Amino acid sequence: MAGKQRIVMLADCQSFYASVEKAKHPEYEGKPLVVAGDPERRSGIVLAACPLAKARGVTTAERLGEALGKCPDLIVATPRMQEYIEYSLLITRIYESFTDLVEPYSIDEQFLDLTETARLFGGPEEAARMIQKRVLEQTGVYVRLGISTNKLLAKMACDNYAKKRPDRAGRCRPDASSRSCRTPSSPAPCSC
Ligand SMILES: [Mg+2]
Repeated sequence: MAGKQRIVMLADCQSFYASVEKAKHPEYEGKPLVVAGDPERRSGIVLAACPLAKARGVTTAERLGEALGKCPDLIVATPRMQEYIEYSLLITRIYESFTDLVEPYSIDEQFLDLTETARLFGGPEEAARMIQKRVLEQTGVYVRLGISTNKLLAKMACDNYAKKRPDRAGRCRPDASSRSCRTPSSPAPCSC
């Protein structure tokens, strides 16, 4: 093991609460949706917005009334935390089919250490694509993956590169210079 370069990923579920609601309600497909508290009184805060809602100017943490002002046909779902926890646990089990070293970081972000297992799937990028595909097929949730050699760089790769890329996978090399960061190039469909 000495000197062996680690393969660490941060897997981040995209628009997690909103994605779960869309997965549970196929009739909402193609429609802008937010998860927000107290939709009856229009006074709640937007906890999560799907990409279609974001494209209409809706932002996380704004007041629901403001969001509805920008996007009157917005679908507003009441938060169901137990449902989101169960989805998070299901996604953990999917990650555990790629490595037994999975560390939840938040309800929608988890670290995976694939140092010993990535080669079984053809390498880090190939494993990342398989993880994305399996989570999407089993839950309807899109996952972004930052890939590097430790948790900090994997988180940076996810936040700074994967989020901006259509295939949702970014990689940071250990020296972490901007030139060392790159992304695989295969495209993936847009979510929402
Ligand atoms: Mg997320």
